[in-house]
Amino acid sequence: MDDHKTLTQPQPQKRTGHEPFYKRLDTPLNTRPASPYTLNPPIDNDGLSWPSLGARNRLEATPEEAEAREKRIASAVKTILTELGEDVEREGLLETPERYARAMLFFTKGYEDNIKDVIKRAVFEEDHDEMVIVKDIDVYSLCEHHLVPFFGKVHIGYIPNKKVLGLSKLARLAEMYSRRFQVQERLTKQIAMAVYEILKPRGVAVVMEATHMCMVSRGVQKVGATTTTSCMLGCFRSQQKTRDEFLTLIK
Ligand SMILES: [Zn+2]
Repeated sequence: MDDHKTLTQPQPQKRTGHEPFYKRLDTPLNTRPASPYTLNPPIDNDGLSWPSLGARNRLEATPEEAEAREKRIASAVKTILTELGEDVEREGLLETPERYARAMLFFTKGYEDNIKDVIKRAVFEEDHDEMVIVKDIDVYSLCEHHLVPFFGKVHIGYIPNKKVLGLSKLARLAEMYSRRFQVQERLTKQIAMAVYEILKPRGVAVVMEATHMCMVSRGVQKVGATTTTSCMLGCFRSQQKTRDEFLTLIK
């Protein structure tokens, strides 16, 4: 069962004895089955952070290869439209396949982002040890189960340990991970783990509230239903007072 999965997903790396915190600590993060998307370090050798299998091909494509890729996607979209009973030759749809191909490449451009380039030199030494919060970061992502959008707000907080990150970079990290095929739980966790890895802070908290088109437009739940996910690491996980302060501040 699930043979195609074992073939196509990157395998978790072998344990080396130098694993990052989330492999060593006995936290709930460690109680789930190994997922290559969160068990590997957020920053691997080439800086690509949990890339898709084909991320490198996309990154290194020549202009000709990129154009050929766009054409292949467009032709697949034509097939879908035809199978749905549409006339792909009618005026309104003439350029839709190409447009959709470009849109999908944009919606998934986060695979090509490199965590090192996103952060650049925006990590600063600073003696600040109070909570830093950036809230209401808009994110647009795609549900990997239905390939339709989910979108909402992300709130990120951390307590520095001698290092702080340029504030706009928190939003850039959220953008990088949301422009991929995602589930909201993983997106939340990936943002938290990236901040934890980059800053080694005393703690990180990420809360995301989102509306899923696959839920609200299929009648599974009422329009306006939102899904909230959170990931608490370090002192946000161990100290309820810290966690409560964060949750109050993002209200
Ligand atoms: Zn969905």
